[in-house]
Amino acid sequence: MRAWIVERPAPIDEQPLRLVDRPEPAPGPGQVRIRVSCCGVCRTDLHLAEGDLRPRRPGVTPGHEVVGRVDRLGADARRFAVGDRIGVPWLGSVDGSCAWCRRGEENLCLRPTFTGWDIDGGYAEHCLVDEAFAYALPDAIDDEQAAPLLCAGIIGYRALRLAETPPGGRLGIYGFGGSAHLTAQIALHQGMRVHVLTRGEHNRALAAELGVDSVGGAADAPPEPLDGAILFAPAGELVPPALRALDRGGTLAVAGIWLSDIPTIAYADELFNERRLRSVTANTRSDGEAFLRLAERFGITAMTHAYPLARAADALADLAHGRFGGAAVLHV
Ligand SMILES: [Zn+2]
Ligand SMILES: [Zn+2]
Repeated sequence: MRAWIVERPAPIDEQPLRLVDRPEPAPGPGQVRIRVSCCGVCRTDLHLAEGDLRPRRPGVTPGHEVVGRVDRLGADARRFAVGDRIGVPWLGSVDGSCAWCRRGEENLCLRPTFTGWDIDGGYAEHCLVDEAFAYALPDAIDDEQAAPLLCAGIIGYRALRLAETPPGGRLGIYGFGGSAHLTAQIALHQGMRVHVLTRGEHNRALAAELGVDSVGGAADAPPEPLDGAILFAPAGELVPPALRALDRGGTLAVAGIWLSDIPTIAYADELFNERRLRSVTANTRSDGEAFLRLAERFGITAMTHAYPLARAADALADLAHGRFGGAAVLHV
C-alpha cells in the first residue's frame, strides 16, 4: 500500500516526508484495520515532520484524524463489523491501570500511545486501530467533514471545557485555524460571546463568516474583558496579552501540544486576581463521544480543503505557510 513516512524531521520546505510502498498491516488482537477514505491534516503532524515533537518511532506514518471502513478484524475484535464506518483519533491506547486512568483522567495516562506518533496513522491506504479507541461516526456527517472533528474538533472541545467560560460568558480565541473554527461554532451555539484574536487574512475572514462578536489582531486587546480564553496559536508570546485580557478569575487554556517559550509573566497585571493558566493534554474518550454528539446536534461544519493522498506534503507546507483557512483533508 502507499503510505507517507516521516523520513528525517526537518523544516517542511526541506521535504521531511516521503511516500513509500509498504505491506498492508495485519490487525492484532482487539484491533481492526480500516481502508482509509479521508485523513485530516493537523498541526501536530507538522510539529512531528519538523522535529518539534521528538519522533517516537522511526519512519512513522502521520495522521490521526482518520475516517474509513473496517475491512479486517483482529482476533477478539467484536465492537465493529466489516464495512462499518469509523473514526481513528489521536489517543491510540492507555494502560488503564495508572493512577490517572483509574480516576477517569486517561488523557494524562503514564503509558499512552498516539496514532501517527507511536502507531502508524492515516496518511496511508490502510491503518490499524484498537477497537476500544475508535469512534462510531454519525451518519449525517460525511467523511471529509468527519475527519477534522477527530482531533481538531475534540481537542478544541476539551480546551473549551477547560477554559470554564459560563453559558453566555465572554470567550477569547487566540489563533483561528482548523481547531478554533470548530470550537467557535460550539461556543456560539452555547450562547457565548466570542472574540477572535488572530493574524492572517484567511483566518480573520473565516472568523467573520462564522458570525463571531469581534475579530482583532493576534496580540490586540479584545473589546471587553474575557471570562475564558483559548490559545490555539503555538505562540508563547501570546500568553501574557491573553492573560491580561482575562477578567478576575478567568482561565486561559493552551490547546496545543507544542508552544514556543512563554516570556516573563508580570504577576500583578497578568496573573493576580486568580487568573489561571492551564494546558490541555490530549483528551479522554468521553470528550470525544460528547463532542461528536454536539457536532451532530449543532450541525458543526468544518471548512475543508481537499488534497489527494499524493499531495500530503503540499498540504502540510500550505498549513505551515497559512495558505488556507480551516482544515486540510487528504482523500485516499
Ligand atoms: Zn494510564
Ligand atoms: Zn491533531
